[in-house]
Amino acid sequence: MRIKLLGAPVDALNMKETVNQIEGFLQRDGKSHFIITLNPEYLYRAQYNEELMKLVHEADLVTPDGTGIVWAAKMAGMPVPERVTGIDLMLSLIPKAAKAGWRVFLLGAAPGVAEEAAANLKKQYPSLIIAGTHDGYFKPHEEDSVVKEIAAAKPQLLFVALGMPRQEQWIHKHKNKMGVPVVMGVGGSFDVIAGKVERVAPWLQKMNLEWLGRLMKEPQRWKRQLVLPKFAWLVIMKYKLKI
Ligand code: UDP
Repeated sequence: MRIKLLGAPVDALNMKETVNQIEGFLQRDGKSHFIITLNPEYLYRAQYNEELMKLVHEADLVTPDGTGIVWAAKMAGMPVPERVTGIDLMLSLIPKAAKAGWRVFLLGAAPGVAEEAAANLKKQYPSLIIAGTHDGYFKPHEEDSVVKEIAAAKPQLLFVALGMPRQEQWIHKHKNKMGVPVVMGVGGSFDVIAGKVERVAPWLQKMNLEWLGRLMKEPQRWKRQLVLPKFAWLVIMKYKLKI
């Protein structure tokens, strides 16, 4: 089921159902499917940025990425089963890819990080086929050659870690030229998989406090997180105070 949250579609699926849906995308020919893991920060910005909102409407699958989205859906009276974050979804798809032989391409993060992430994934799933990797610090004039490199590598799954919302804009702009069946943005996931950044402890994640843990690990994020109370206020105004 698809719900509408502050004007954006969100698929009310749990992790297992999301993975099943993506498996379905991979079995169909031709079309390139674009997945957005929607977090509060993106949804807040999309309220004031038509282009960002349009991208969410054009995505084939929109997952509730973060406690804030799960909470907002509950406030709106349209609860979603659980949060489906970019990194968790990626790490759920990798063993499936290893088993099914889906080729995986990692684009993004600082030079060397995508390779290290790929090596760590390969260590854990030796049958995983890495179709290619490329860092995320290419110049605008190199964009076409990156797109060609990906198309030539013929991956079935492309993970793009350029940060939000640049990765979503990039995917939307190039997806039809690359011919990749499933493409999704994964933010800082390669840094975590490569072991450059430690993920917030599971107990904090379970207490819905991943945002707090990230703030403690990466204090420079405080400016970005200022958006969270603004997002919460927007949700309360719309769904509780009905202003
Ligand atoms: N990044 C990149 N190219 C850029 C800017 C950022 O590849 O021009 C990468 C950066 O190295 C990091 C990721 O994008 O690996 C963004 O991580 P962040 O945790 O900020 O993700 P977000 O919270 O935006 O999803």
